[in-house]
Amino acid sequence: MLWFTEYYKGEGMELQGTGLSMKVKSSKYLKTPYQELLLLETEDWGKVLVLDGAVQTTERDEFIYHEMISHPALFTFPRQVEKVLVIGGGDGGTVREVLKHQPKEVVMVEIDREVVEICKKEFPSISKGLGDERVKLTFGDGREFVKDKEAEFDLIIVDCSDPVGPSVVLYQEDFYRDCFKALKEDGIFVTQSESPFAQNRVHRQVVRELEKVFPIVRPYLAFIPTYPSGMWSFTIGSKKLDPLGVAPSALGKLYRELVEREGALKYYNPEVHYGAFAIPNFVYREE
Ligand code: SAM
Repeated sequence: MLWFTEYYKGEGMELQGTGLSMKVKSSKYLKTPYQELLLLETEDWGKVLVLDGAVQTTERDEFIYHEMISHPALFTFPRQVEKVLVIGGGDGGTVREVLKHQPKEVVMVEIDREVVEICKKEFPSISKGLGDERVKLTFGDGREFVKDKEAEFDLIIVDCSDPVGPSVVLYQEDFYRDCFKALKEDGIFVTQSESPFAQNRVHRQVVRELEKVFPIVRPYLAFIPTYPSGMWSFTIGSKKLDPLGVAPSALGKLYRELVEREGALKYYNPEVHYGAFAIPNFVYREE
């Protein structure tokens, strides 16, 4: 039996002698024009997608990441969301969750066509939304895509990998400014913002840069076992709507309607919505 180890390393990683190992039944390796792709069949986590040595998606815990990058922002809207932009997100899990809110259109801009092709074939339960007629798939750099957009999207979700290679540009203030411009007047932006424990400086920088651009900035947490340290964060930047300002009665109603229509969610619920924004002291403690 083989083992795969993700050695924690790279830009912003503060753990330098730590990794995560999984028992592997079989593996496939592929070099795309943008990154090294590894598809693993594992003993505990089902199929696993690894890009440039870092675990991106596992069949066993993907629901946590995909529900939590999508629903806190989507449930903040008191109205129907019409047009959503997903940047990155090649496995399709974020699009699957967004579609549960019945938008008119979802645009996904992914830089690496091969990630999408492999995920369509190997992860049908995650990528099933990508074939939906409301979804427009575009291949290219999300950074370039938003440059000339104005007041077009209700919500922009940045589902990107760590700040190395093609993702670096998705962590910068000028990108956040273009996203602000691309959003409607009550629009919301959300990005995955790394592990506040293992990549604390990168996490804080994302929050700081977003605070220069958006009047409302709300980092929040989720537990994701296969990401470094298990403690993961997302950060919302919003023009008007505050995820903490949603009335519990309104959220409860919207949540029950979604569950009746789409089936149960596995991580997100109204209690998790408010609780996720509670941040432990060490995260923003000045050294
Ligand atoms: N859940 C993951 C995580 O946090 O580790 C992210 C998964 S998703 C597969 C990340 C995707 O972002 C990859 O498929 C990658 O190709 C894509 N990506 C990276 N940089 C990009 C860019 N500049 N524009 C669009 N997509 C990009």
